[in-house]
Amino acid sequence: MLRTTNCGALRLSEVGQKVTLSGWVQKTRNKGFMLWVDLRDRYGITQIIFDEERSPRRVFKEAQQLGREYVIQIEGEVIERESKNPNMKTGGIEILANRLTLLNPSSTPPFTIEDDTDGGEELRMQYRYLDLRRTPVQDSLIFRHRVALAVRNYLSGEGFIEIETPYLIKSTPEGARDFVVPSRMHKGEFYALPQSPQTFKQLLMVGGMDKYFQIVKCFRDEDLRSDRQPEFTQIDCELAFVEQEDILNQFEGLTQHLIQSLLGEDVGVFPRMTYDEAIRRYGNDKPDIRFGMEFTELNSMAQGKGFGVFDSQELVVGIAVPEAAEYTRKQIDALIDWVKRPQIGALGLVWVKCNADGSFKSSVDKFFSTEDLKAWASETSAQAGDLILVMAGEAQSTRRQLSALRMELAERLGLRDPKVFAPLWITDFPLLEWDEESQRFHAMHHPFTAPKPEEADLLATDPKKVKANAYDLVLNGNEIGGGSIRIHNAELQQKMFDLLGFSPEEAQAQFGFLMDAFQYGAPPHGGIAFGLDRLVAILAGKETIRDYIAFPKNNSGRDLMIDAPTAIDPLQLDELGLNIQPNSSE
Ligand code: ASP
Repeated sequence: MLRTTNCGALRLSEVGQKVTLSGWVQKTRNKGFMLWVDLRDRYGITQIIFDEERSPRRVFKEAQQLGREYVIQIEGEVIERESKNPNMKTGGIEILANRLTLLNPSSTPPFTIEDDTDGGEELRMQYRYLDLRRTPVQDSLIFRHRVALAVRNYLSGEGFIEIETPYLIKSTPEGARDFVVPSRMHKGEFYALPQSPQTFKQLLMVGGMDKYFQIVKCFRDEDLRSDRQPEFTQIDCELAFVEQEDILNQFEGLTQHLIQSLLGEDVGVFPRMTYDEAIRRYGNDKPDIRFGMEFTELNSMAQGKGFGVFDSQELVVGIAVPEAAEYTRKQIDALIDWVKRPQIGALGLVWVKCNADGSFKSSVDKFFSTEDLKAWASETSAQAGDLILVMAGEAQSTRRQLSALRMELAERLGLRDPKVFAPLWITDFPLLEWDEESQRFHAMHHPFTAPKPEEADLLATDPKKVKANAYDLVLNGNEIGGGSIRIHNAELQQKMFDLLGFSPEEAQAQFGFLMDAFQYGAPPHGGIAFGLDRLVAILAGKETIRDYIAFPKNNSGRDLMIDAPTAIDPLQLDELGLNIQPNSSE
């Protein structure tokens, strides 16, 4: 046995015991006649003492050679420490070593392997196996394990079966590009890696499996964006014989259970909001409702008063920023500059200070009377001491800009408390969205989402208006889950592909299997998928998902440790039929 116990276990009650420990040398302290080693493993750190008088001479000498991250085994006796360290679980004791075995030496690590490391992010990714030795990283992965286990136990208890679906499939459009996999046996043909198991889980419902889930890798070849991983993990779920209400209740239950069992918090019943309402009140379909600053539309009060900037606009909309009336001119100018940055792209910002003494001061005093501003304050529920900020322009972009400003202000005002959990359901998403560039409809969720039954007729006359039985679960301003009731009827599915611009032949070639399956008694069904990486990060009060993935890719989708992607051998390309030679016959 290479150890009788681990480096986090020993306490004063074990004084006098003979133990064997194995682990990594975190650090050594040499006083000449005594040498201490902090020995680390997954469970903690235990101090080892090598003593010129009390340890065997050879052991004492060998200990002088130990360097950082050497792997050693020691045998010795648990003794009480003279100067105890109350900040360490094992701080009351140390081990007086009488045997030392060097299991493996180590090169000097490129960064310090301690809670607060000096290593930059790229370096730590390149040596992820060393970063993994650090306690905060280990704690993150252990927390992820606990979340995944709680999910499995809960869903299993509710009668769900975990079923694996294939990774080598045919492409499923979910709004992103597929990663494709060539095959040696079928030259010129490709598998695709699943963007999600969407069609398979639906086929499992046709297959009568009734309640499915899977903690599963999904792959999307999307454009770069910070903290987005080309492969990520979903908690993927599907149920047969359900309506939207059943699904919302089931997965509200799962989420409540996770927050309760992992964090001890009771978040109560989740509020619900339609997509239209979320856009109107927050300018965003994943609103952070931990704080107010709701949008107020001011068109009727602000237009027609001679202020040209407002008059011709589709939307005039404002928020009341709590206790910000005392912002200096400089602070307000900084906000104006912030919204004018190209990432936000606003033209400007109108401000109104609702001073503590009841007076008003604004950037548009020339155009609006105190009475006017008072009316704005009452409409936006601004209190004395608040600052009203107003934007105007085309509705969609103005809402997006004001929403970005609302989040930025919340961040600056410390209103995004990671310890507070504010979940909500967004329902009634539009079924389709019009894409100006390609001049066609895209499915807002995916092409398998069912229109609301009462609106199915509108598909033929006014498709833009049709709402879907599609829903998202939002937590603290992040979409953590999304799903829908599905189409289970071949004819309707065909009609949907039609609307999305697939010819009948294309639809048949890509999705014939699904429409065929719908001919054989497909039950009504629906489901949802949660992003596990993000869910884990948010539950831990963090926003960076990379920290919760054992071997993440960087922001440009590269694995810096194994160095991927890379070019492959011409021979390999040849075998796959991918060596595209210039065509000499042309
Ligand atoms: N497949 C969907 C997604 O990945 C989730 C679902 O509709 O269940 O977003």
